[in-house]
Amino acid sequence: MTSFQSARIRLTAWYVVISALIGITFSIVIYEVVTQEIRQGFIVAEQRLRIGPIASQRAQLFLHEEYQAATKAVFVRLLIMNSAIIASAGIAGYFLAGKVLLPLEEMVDDQKRFIGDASHELRTPLTTLRSEIEVFLRSKRVSPKAKELAESNLEEIQKMQDLVSSLLALSKYTDSRDIQFESLNLSKIAEEIADKHAIEAKRQKIKIEKNLEPVIVSGDKTSIRQLLSILLDNAVKYNNQGGVVTISTKSSRRNAIIKIADTGTGIPKEDLSHIFKRFYRVDPSRSKDSVEGYGLGLSIAKSIVELHKGEISVVSKIQKGTVFTVLLPK
Ligand code: ADP
Repeated sequence: MTSFQSARIRLTAWYVVISALIGITFSIVIYEVVTQEIRQGFIVAEQRLRIGPIASQRAQLFLHEEYQAATKAVFVRLLIMNSAIIASAGIAGYFLAGKVLLPLEEMVDDQKRFIGDASHELRTPLTTLRSEIEVFLRSKRVSPKAKELAESNLEEIQKMQDLVSSLLALSKYTDSRDIQFESLNLSKIAEEIADKHAIEAKRQKIKIEKNLEPVIVSGDKTSIRQLLSILLDNAVKYNNQGGVVTISTKSSRRNAIIKIADTGTGIPKEDLSHIFKRFYRVDPSRSKDSVEGYGLGLSIAKSIVELHKGEISVVSKIQKGTVFTVLLPK
């Protein structure tokens, strides 16, 4: 179900609840007023019967039954009316919610397409620029100054390419129609991603420890790889020399549980609720400076987890470390 479909259903539910509340309130008032009137009429009739020449007990009983039948009839009619109101509010609400949300859905789709298209368009010139500079650098007649400049340009191009890839990933992982679910062995993927990061970790004198129990989930392989890669990359990036990163997978009754813990810089308390937002980075003076990034990794990670109907949470202590926990339904 897309987020717009669930928003449409939620909006319809609100229409129904509001209509039901109004209908029931009015019905209670109507019921009270009408039964009061009926009661009044029957009391008068009963009194007339009593002072009449023949005070028949049977007639009084009959009157009482009639009174109960009349109030029951009022109740049943109000019940039918309310059911009709709720049913029509549901149908009209669903239709109206669709009308209200359609322009928003189109706008978001347009935005997503724009980000996707723009990133695509930027990819080709960046690749060309990169290969041209690489060819230039291979030439023997390049002066040291020109070489230094070209190398610095290459670094900038790499950053732009990373940004473009992140933007493409963000636009891709906003819609479950764009991913393919299959049965995945999570511990195997975690092992593979941990090994991939081992070289960079070793370079920074950081140890990656694995504690992987086999877990099978239904998920999209590429995006799950990217999710683990983002979390492991951060755990290494924001760690200290000699630090440790632990990746673990295990299974509970309903979920697969992935934990990525590090002994790094930690995240200040006031930043914890913001780190999953796009382009949000913790103030470098309070975390670790000179760490490259655009603040998009965790928002991509969150989109991926949400596409899998899972949950991602974080616990962190300054200068002690951070633990990211991902729950994915099995
Ligand atoms: P990026 O790493 O590109 O800045 P992210 O979205 O991956 O962007 O992370 C957002 C911010 O959260 C980072 O700038 C960093 O300050 C903080 N952060 C993320 N993971 C960790 C971690 N494991 N330890 C400490 N800080 C972290």
